[in-house]
Amino acid sequence: MQSRRNFLKTAALAALGSGLAAGSLAANETGGGRAAWFNINRLAGAAPRMRLRFFPYELKLRHVFTVATYSRSTTPDVQVEVEYDGVVGYGEASMPPYLQQELGSVDSVTAFLQKVQGEIGRFQDPFQLEDILSYIDGLSGGNAAAKAAVDIALHDLVGKLLQAPWYRIWGLDKDKAPSTTFTIGIDTPEVVRQKTRECADRFNILKVKLGSDHDKQLIETIRSVTPLPIAVDANQGWKDKHRALDMIHWLKEQGVVMVEQPMPKEQLDDLAWVTRQSPLPVFADESVQRLKDIPALQGVFTGINIKLMKCTGMREAWKMLTLARALGMKVMIGCMTETSCAISAAAQLSPAVDFADLDGSLLIANDRFKGMEVVNGKITLPDRPGIGVVKL
Ligand SMILES: [Mg+2]
Repeated sequence: MQSRRNFLKTAALAALGSGLAAGSLAANETGGGRAAWFNINRLAGAAPRMRLRFFPYELKLRHVFTVATYSRSTTPDVQVEVEYDGVVGYGEASMPPYLQQELGSVDSVTAFLQKVQGEIGRFQDPFQLEDILSYIDGLSGGNAAAKAAVDIALHDLVGKLLQAPWYRIWGLDKDKAPSTTFTIGIDTPEVVRQKTRECADRFNILKVKLGSDHDKQLIETIRSVTPLPIAVDANQGWKDKHRALDMIHWLKEQGVVMVEQPMPKEQLDDLAWVTRQSPLPVFADESVQRLKDIPALQGVFTGINIKLMKCTGMREAWKMLTLARALGMKVMIGCMTETSCAISAAAQLSPAVDFADLDGSLLIANDRFKGMEVVNGKITLPDRPGIGVVKL
């Protein structure tokens, strides 16, 4: 029985690779369980239907989040479920307020999901991700976070139907998942020292947001506590290319290993100048959103930061990774403040990236899921199917 089940799993995976519907293949190969359900329904002419549900879910942050212009203690979020044949896939849209223009609000996400709710029933086969997600993408422009929520739920559903996690479907080795960075917030030297001490034992690489007048002081404060490698995100903060390059040389001497978006996203000539001479890899974040943005960035950045909420989800993220690699570029995977749902979805891709910045679920106090875990600083993927989450 065990070998038969394994055969079915293998057959279903092969079917996905060749574009066949795994459900119908399984139905032909066995008379029991779910496959029988397929047969009965097909004979009766009643194919199972996909249904979509969603509800707003405000994320509570463990610590007040402060940037130059404001502070906040919550993040708006919408949770999504797609159900098919009794199996539920989970997804999520997170919309940090400073990205409202790009990612939307609870109202705009809810309005878009209502539209999807009315349309998703026209698709009978959840394995046809390409058709379904292209159709949803075409319903209206923008709405990247809402699209990502549906994409993640569908991927979770399909992985569960195949009984396989996505890192396996993609052919990745989960042991190659990297350590995640953990961000040390900007604060007084005393608080930064304290936070760094707390993190130094739990993580293998730290992340710091620079771009203020106190950049060197912040790095030196962290260095007074730990020699751990540091990833730097300048968040477009350096406006002059000479200053940016000087800083990068100094940072390299301080044990920094990469720099994200050193200059404003539209200054591509300056960014290319910096990258050409930079002793550290330079990654695009604000300069890249989706697949179509990547070709113009070849030669401008060393690599790209892929975020599911910005790029509409796992399907496009995989295409972005493939294109970036083909263009000889490095890849990192990032996140917003999210529950373990979206974080675990992004983590499925992590064995294929150079850097991972997946600390979003560690920042919230009301996670709904258990999924990817950080063990000794390293991303640790569960063996569970789909995106690998269970509800808490
Ligand atoms: Mg960034």
